Amino acid sequence: MFILKGIDQLQSAITKAKKIRPRVEFDRFGRYRVSGSKGGYYTVICRKDDRGIKAVECACRGGEQGLVCYHAVAALSLHVGLARQRMAQVQAEDVPYLKRTVQIKAERIAGIRIN
Ligand SMILES: [Zn+2]
Repeated sequence: MFILKGIDQLQSAITKAKKIRPRVEFDRFGRYRVSGSKGGYYTVICRKDDRGIKAVECACRGGEQGLVCYHAVAALSLHVGLARQRMAQVQAEDVPYLKRTVQIKAERIAGIRIN
């Protein structure tokens, strides 16, 4: 497990992930399966505690030793995208004005109406 502090600590793992291009499977929000280089899958858990500390856990050997592995960053790239989407949804629901704006945009773009 490692604590996510910023992009700098992920750089070399990102380079590796780009080269290897592992397959990331969605299990549930915060839980993913990432293909290993020698076959099989590793489970990666991304979570945030009450204080906002973000931790990433990978079941591979390096991950268990606290290293930032390419499985973790591959899962993170999906997780961050999903978290952003979630946040946008929550905000749209919480703020009537924003929800209205989203509706108007969707209506204009696709000619659809959202209730
Ligand atoms: Zn790993």
